[in-house]
Amino acid sequence: MKEMICICCPMGCRLKVYDDETPIRVEGNTCRRGAKYGAEEAVCPKRVVTATVRVKGGDTEMVSVKTKDAIPKRAIFDALALLKGRTVAAPIFEGDVVVKDILGTGVDFVATKTVRKSI
Ligand code: SF4
Repeated sequence: MKEMICICCPMGCRLKVYDDETPIRVEGNTCRRGAKYGAEEAVCPKRVVTATVRVKGGDTEMVSVKTKDAIPKRAIFDALALLKGRTVAAPIFEGDVVVKDILGTGVDFVATKTVRKSI
């Protein structure tokens, strides 16, 4: 059994995850999201990753990016390495894909804001 705090919302419910049972049983969750989170966290923890990427020719030098969905926690450092030294050309718009299919996860890094061309 593992104990953890659900991070899906500010309530922070304390979960007990019985990962030695099939299917995995979760107690302490107030809603279904917590049950899903607890079961996934016990087997393959995932996180949404945020970072910044350099912009060439933009009205700002950097653009914030994030994974469009959560990726396995164990892949975070390798995913961030894909952004190291990467530059995107302005304009870039919120939602534009910066890195497609991160490490074969099917999840993209996308821009979280718009950067226009510098005048
Ligand atoms: S179990 Fe539901 S209510 Fe509790 S922290 Fe998770 S998402 Fe929020």
